[in-house]
Amino acid sequence: MRPIRVTVWHRQSLVQFAVLLTATLAIACGGAAAQDLGTLTPKPLPVLAHPDDPHTPAKELFGRETTPAAMPARSIGYYTHGCLAGGVALPINGPTWQVMRLSRNRNWGHPNLIRTIERIANKAPSIGWNGLLVGDMAQPRGGPMITGHWSHQLGLDADIWLTPMPNRELTRKEREEMMATNVVADDWMDVNPKVWSPTYIALYKMVAQQPGIERVLANPAIKKALCRDVKGDRSWLHKIRPVPGHNYHFHIRIGCPSDSPGCKSQTPPPHDEGCGKDLDWWFSKAVREPKPPVKSKPILMSALPAACRQILAAP
Ligand SMILES: [Zn+2]
Repeated sequence: MRPIRVTVWHRQSLVQFAVLLTATLAIACGGAAAQDLGTLTPKPLPVLAHPDDPHTPAKELFGRETTPAAMPARSIGYYTHGCLAGGVALPINGPTWQVMRLSRNRNWGHPNLIRTIERIANKAPSIGWNGLLVGDMAQPRGGPMITGHWSHQLGLDADIWLTPMPNRELTRKEREEMMATNVVADDWMDVNPKVWSPTYIALYKMVAQQPGIERVLANPAIKKALCRDVKGDRSWLHKIRPVPGHNYHFHIRIGCPSDSPGCKSQTPPPHDEGCGKDLDWWFSKAVREPKPPVKSKPILMSALPAACRQILAAP
């Protein structure tokens, strides 16, 4: 499947296309996946009988890699079709962050992503957010994942929970089983007023304003609330991109690093706030309600940049 450009999403009016796209996007960034329970006793995946078979889905190969490729850091390919060399792990505990769902081993990224998360985490207390609970980033060598996520393949994406970090270190069990906060109302038409607060607005603003952040993916209801509630400086609103799901977490995406010539940039988001007609489109019934995941053909190695084979083969 070819990468979907965000700029085309809003201009489509064909409902059929909308339904298909919505279903695709719902699994794109793990709308529900961040809520999947983890386990304290993860079992290694069975060894593949024919890893070199060209029909072996790339996710089965990258999903079995438990360590990064020992090479200089480099993001290769596109956000939805690529891989990562020299991945770095975000430490599971920082002064103002904790990593969740450790059994997934997805706290890896390009060093730029690690720095970005640490910067956001350091700033969080200044806007009244105690710290970050960090969900999925990338696998040690990036690439497609066996569960959840269309993107997150380059080590340039991360999911951050919409629950502030508690004032104590979470246990391993809590990190596998705790649930994040849903800020969206049950009818998906707006945020839940019992949960939504000025602190959420300050959080989205602070995150969107950090250097290197190209996009912050949020449920359309959250974008709607921001469009309505943000006063004063609205220059960052265009970076908040409406995407189904993303009601328990937001997804940050940084741009291609300068050390990664093989990284394919995404078209920058349009500069207008995105609060007009384009946003209304997301609230038609056909579009707004989450759909069961569509079965799509898995990505094969032949669809990834050739360099991703070397990443898999590297020590
Ligand atoms: Zn995501």
